Amino acid sequence: MKIGEYKIASFISGYFKLDGGIVFGIIPKALWSRTNPADENNRVQLCNRILLLDNGKRRIIVDTGCGDKLSKKLKEIYVIDNSQYNLIGELNKLGYKPEDITDVILTHLHFDHSGGSTYYNSNQQLCPTFPNAVYYVQEKQYQWAITPTERDKASYFKNDFEPLMNSGHMKLISDNYKFDEFIELIALSGHTRGMMMVKIKDDESVLLHTADLVPMETHLSLPAISSVDSFPLMSLYEKKMFLSSAVMENWMIFLCHDPNTECIRVHFDREMFFTKEKLQIV
Ligand SMILES: [Zn+2]
Repeated sequence: MKIGEYKIASFISGYFKLDGGIVFGIIPKALWSRTNPADENNRVQLCNRILLLDNGKRRIIVDTGCGDKLSKKLKEIYVIDNSQYNLIGELNKLGYKPEDITDVILTHLHFDHSGGSTYYNSNQQLCPTFPNAVYYVQEKQYQWAITPTERDKASYFKNDFEPLMNSGHMKLISDNYKFDEFIELIALSGHTRGMMMVKIKDDESVLLHTADLVPMETHLSLPAISSVDSFPLMSLYEKKMFLSSAVMENWMIFLCHDPNTECIRVHFDREMFFTKEKLQIV
C-alpha cells in the first residue's frame, strides 16, 4: 500500500492474551465470545500489529509490541507468544535492521505498545532497540506513565520508556502534531491521557491507526470500551467522532490488536457501526 510518498507495510510482532472482561468492558460475555472465544481462563487472543512507513528517507514504525523483557510469571499470565513472530525478526524479513529505523511513534506507553522499545544487552544494560531513532510520545502520556494510578500501574513498566528519556532518544510532543505532509499524530484522552492515533493521508486515501480506541473489530460496537480505559465516556465520545469521520470519508481503520483482521472500512446503519470491507495492507 502507498499513501503519499510512504510505502506502508504491517506485520504481527507477537501474540498475547487478556481477560475478555478487560478487553470488552461492559459487553456481556455471551456477546463478545461469539466473535472472540475465551479460553478456560476467560482470556481472549490478541496480537500486536506494527505499522511500518518508509518514504526512502524516513523509516518509521508505530508501536513496538510487548517486547521480551517481561518476567517468566508475567509472560505466563499474558500468554506472550513469540513462537511464530517477533519484532526484529519480522523487520528483518521486510529488509530492515534495527539501525535503519529513524522514528518510532509510540501511541502510548502501556507495555503491550511500548515493550519492544528497549532491550537488555549482553551486559544486562537497558538499551534502545532502535539506536538511531527518535521515539515520539505525548508529554501527558509520559507524565501519566511515570506516576500511574493504582488502577493502571500494572500496565506500565518504566524499563520500557525511562531509559529512552535518559539517553535522549525520546521526543515529547503536545496535542495534535503534524509529523510531515502525510502523517499527523492525533492526541486523545479516553483510554489514557495522551494516547495518540496516527493518520496517514493523501488526496485519495486515509489510513488511521487508532491505537486502543478501536483495537479490534468487535470494538466497533460503541459500548465495547476496555475496562482499563481511564475515562470511558471520553473514549465513547472519541470513538463516535472518529468513526463518523471514517464512515463519511471512507477511511481505512488499522486494528492493532485484532489477530484475524488487519484493516477495515466502516459503515453506519441503525445507530451502529459495522465493517463494510476488510482489507490487507500489502
Ligand atoms: Zn493501551
